Amino acid sequence: MTQIGFIGLGIMGKPMARNLLKAGYSLNVYDLRPEAVAELRDAGATAAISCRDATARSEIIITMLPDGPDVERAVLGPEGVLAGARRGSVIVDMSSISPNVSQKVAAACAQKSVDFLDAPVSGGEPKAIDGTLSIMVGGAPEPFERVRPILQTMGSAVTLTGPVGAGNTTKLANQIIVACNIAAMGEALVLATRAGLDPEVVFNAVKGGLAGSTVLNAKAPMVMARNFKPGFRIELHQKDLRNALLAAESMKVALPLTSLVQQMLMALMNEGRGQLDHSAIVQFIEQMARIEVKKGLELAA
Ligand code: NAD
Repeated sequence: MTQIGFIGLGIMGKPMARNLLKAGYSLNVYDLRPEAVAELRDAGATAAISCRDATARSEIIITMLPDGPDVERAVLGPEGVLAGARRGSVIVDMSSISPNVSQKVAAACAQKSVDFLDAPVSGGEPKAIDGTLSIMVGGAPEPFERVRPILQTMGSAVTLTGPVGAGNTTKLANQIIVACNIAAMGEALVLATRAGLDPEVVFNAVKGGLAGSTVLNAKAPMVMARNFKPGFRIELHQKDLRNALLAAESMKVALPLTSLVQQMLMALMNEGRGQLDHSAIVQFIEQMARIEVKKGLELAA
């Protein structure tokens, strides 16, 4: 039975790991939060005491961590994955991080004859639970083919997009589209509400036309129900747009819409809203119009 190390059991990692267990893989799991490790152990995984420990028993190691510095610590640190990895093993980093960090970590892995793939995901917690994520992979074809069946237990669309870093570049493109869509939805619903319309009627009127989208269908109902439980946190999306802007700067690409939405996310974080779902971008626009989308309520001064 293939032994898989799984590191990072948060909103996404936990259901992804559960799907691997359901598919019959043997899992060695680790997270900085002992309660997350205990939950997976109760579901049939073996609990590890460090990243290195989770790796020592595994041929394939998956990481699902917040950002690049976390991946560097978990993979390259003294008790990290690379310290325990055997020659010929494959590290699959499914976190959304800067493509530059993916390339740096891949180079360190290559020195130990360990393959590295960046394989960020799209779809959020519901698709992580259903095993229907979109997985965008960067790396060499051979290790990709080796892990493809494993990725297919977590995702319904698994695409090799290019060499190491390409997966995260594709994910940054995805995050730009999602963030700008949510901001546009926020402006549209605030305008309609200020005009005295019922936002739900407006949503139902436009969702079947060209303005309709997966983002609109997922996020507009959350906004109208005032349900901002994540999902995908504001602070993680701010991290993605920061990585997108850094990558763009290094290539001399201007991303005006991305930088605008990045500023909205930063402002929301400064107000202590970083833990809310990214649909809370609408709150920034509501504040500027002094109106709440739900029932056309005026906001207090
Ligand atoms: P999360 O914060 O819920 O989970 C991250 C987990 O990693 C936590 O349990 C944390 O304790 C653990 N961790 C951090 N550093 C560690 C280390 N050094 N060693 C071991 N464990 C460590 O985050 P999430 O929502 O699961 O997101 C994970 C990644 O997936 C992020 O890059 C995010 O941008 C991306 N992503 C998230 C979503 C979503 O909807 N939540 C969707 C697509 C992609």
